[in-house]
Amino acid sequence: MDKSNYRDMWVHVEHDGKAVHPVSLELLCEIRKLCDQSGDALVAVVPGDVTESEQEKLLACGADKLILVSGTGYERYNTEAYSNLYTVLSRKYRPSAVFVGATVNGRDFAPHFAANLETGCTSDATELIYNPETKDIEFVEPAAGGKIMAVITIPVLRPQVGTIRPGTFKCVPTGKKEHVEIIREEVSFDPAAIRTRLLGYVANEFDPELDIANCETIVCVGSPVKEESLPKYRELAALLGGKLACTRPVVDRELLPYKLQVGQSGVMVKPKLYIGFGVSGAVNHVTGVDAEKFIAVNKDPAAPIFNYCDYGIVGDMDEVCDAMLAALKA
Ligand SMILES: Cc1cc2nc3c(=O)[nH]c(=O)nc-3n(C[C@H](O)[C@H](O)[C@H](O)COP(=O)(O)OP(=O)(O)OC[C@H]3O[C@@H](n4cnc5c(N)ncnc54)[C@H](O)[C@@H]3O)c2cc1C
Repeated sequence: MDKSNYRDMWVHVEHDGKAVHPVSLELLCEIRKLCDQSGDALVAVVPGDVTESEQEKLLACGADKLILVSGTGYERYNTEAYSNLYTVLSRKYRPSAVFVGATVNGRDFAPHFAANLETGCTSDATELIYNPETKDIEFVEPAAGGKIMAVITIPVLRPQVGTIRPGTFKCVPTGKKEHVEIIREEVSFDPAAIRTRLLGYVANEFDPELDIANCETIVCVGSPVKEESLPKYRELAALLGGKLACTRPVVDRELLPYKLQVGQSGVMVKPKLYIGFGVSGAVNHVTGVDAEKFIAVNKDPAAPIFNYCDYGIVGDMDEVCDAMLAALKA
């Protein structure tokens, strides 16, 4: 395969017909930086209809082109039509890379169309680097239980397909380009060939206590937390105007729900303040924390978490929590 025949980087735009999913905007902003280095155009691919004001948001993230795709098969999400769309368009335009938000839908169709195209798909990278010598994208992510940072490339095949978790990158729009190209494509998929049927729709109940992705303060408890101590960490979080979160072992013990798990396989958080109590500092956890101020409380002075924090407190987590509560109440 001659890689020079493949150019431009695509971002799949996920939307519900009204609003674009934030992960698509995050990806556009991050991939803009790679395109500036590689000389590729940044292309936002939009299956189905989005309003003009939502299209403006895509352009504000620096997209050079929009491909607006109409046709049958997109009325509701399904693997076949979405996978077919990227298979057909990738064969026609030959993008160098296609990035898809690692939402439930994105995780479903991205590897599917990558397999159709007989190319590679990597998931959950926490950093993307463009290598100007090889012209490959380096997908960096924790591996082997967080002991190493693996650099994954797709050195021979194109396009390079990657799914990226929501919240991995920041949405910092660089502004609309002076010249933008709008391309309209029609790719129809026979609805009768869709193998799944919609039986009903139940919206996910929104519980603001479980929405830790966008909160400013996070009090995070690690594996040693006792069930009876949870209320005081919750109280501390509330006094600081924030929310309680946890590490994976706390979810595994079923003390707190998965939606409160911070980290590589949980939620990526960007709070102003993060306080970790009894958190060891495993890469799989800290890779999900991008905090302005990071405080760690651990009884082991050699705990790895102290390599990441701005302030470290060596001591018993419950005692330190009690002291913080007393100080705040005073
Ligand atoms: C593919 C993969 C994905 C993963 N994804 C995630 C993820 O998304 N999020 C996540 O959190 N983990 C994730 N993990 C697990 C991760 O590798 C760690 O095992 C986990 O983060 C450790 O949690 P912990 O720090 O709470 O527990 P531990 O590693 O058990 O650390 C507990 C810490 O508490 C300290 N301590 C003990 N008692 C006290 C006390 N009384 N007072 C103060 N300190 C005390 C100890 O010194 C220790 O440092 C993942 C692992 C893999 C393999």
